[in-house]
Amino acid sequence: MPFRELGVNVRTANRLNAMSRHGDFSHAYAFSGSEALAFEAAREFVKAAYCVGSSERPCGECLPCRKIAHGNHEDVIYVTADGGSIKVAHIEELQSKLRNKPFSASRVAAIIREADKMTPQSQNKLLKTLEEPAPGYIIALATENHERLLKTILSRCVLVKVEPEARQTDGETDAKAAALIEMIGNARPYIEITKQLESAAPDKESSLALLEALERAVHALALSHARAGGGAEGGKADGEEASKRSGGAAANVKLAKAAPKLVSLIEETSRDLSYNVSNKYAMRNLVLRVVDLLEAGG
Ligand SMILES: [Zn+2]
Repeated sequence: MPFRELGVNVRTANRLNAMSRHGDFSHAYAFSGSEALAFEAAREFVKAAYCVGSSERPCGECLPCRKIAHGNHEDVIYVTADGGSIKVAHIEELQSKLRNKPFSASRVAAIIREADKMTPQSQNKLLKTLEEPAPGYIIALATENHERLLKTILSRCVLVKVEPEARQTDGETDAKAAALIEMIGNARPYIEITKQLESAAPDKESSLALLEALERAVHALALSHARAGGGAEGGKADGEEASKRSGGAAANVKLAKAAPKLVSLIEETSRDLSYNVSNKYAMRNLVLRVVDLLEAGG
């Protein structure tokens, strides 16, 4: 299943997608989030590494995906706590399995669930493996609290914060997103749009929330457009605030038609932000690209 369906937020899903898209995997990752979600994210990520599906990975349907879902993929090793801790013997067993050649695939992966339950001795033992990475294996640590891992371990892992989907929609942010979409749809001057944007999203956190709200709004527009019969000029989106205004309906049709591209621009922006691109730059760049897209006719 695509990462989005894991119950993680857009930022996490984008990050997972970006990390797995090109197939050049690192040898160690630390997935940090609530216990079950961190483990699920680690497992889905490993699936993406083995997936042979042709569409979005992990597809959830190919043989490797299904085997991993059932916990019986020959090349995926699970390490779990036993009696409240992960002991040196568990790590030694893992290391001996890692020395084996992959059985059916080109790589061996290990998922260490509740990795923070490794004793300090276990962590030091594992460190040896992380320090001398052999090609073709992936070690995925899933942890509720990555800060409980030794710094020496963490420094050798790609840290992935697994954040849950925002359950409640935030009405205020949604209203700001709707106002912005209306301005963009009605081709308001760029300076006006960025002014509105900067007051709605002055920092990274609020920008990420706004991007999620924008994405929801674009999905809703596309849906109401599709329900109104697609191409019909003037889209009969009943109850749409904007459609009551002059030109609003036509603007919504234009936005709805560009929805898939808009969503990917929004997702790219939230990925940029999670990679610490400057907030102001990322958001302004988004507006520019959206304006260009709409001017070019979607
Ligand atoms: Zn697959």
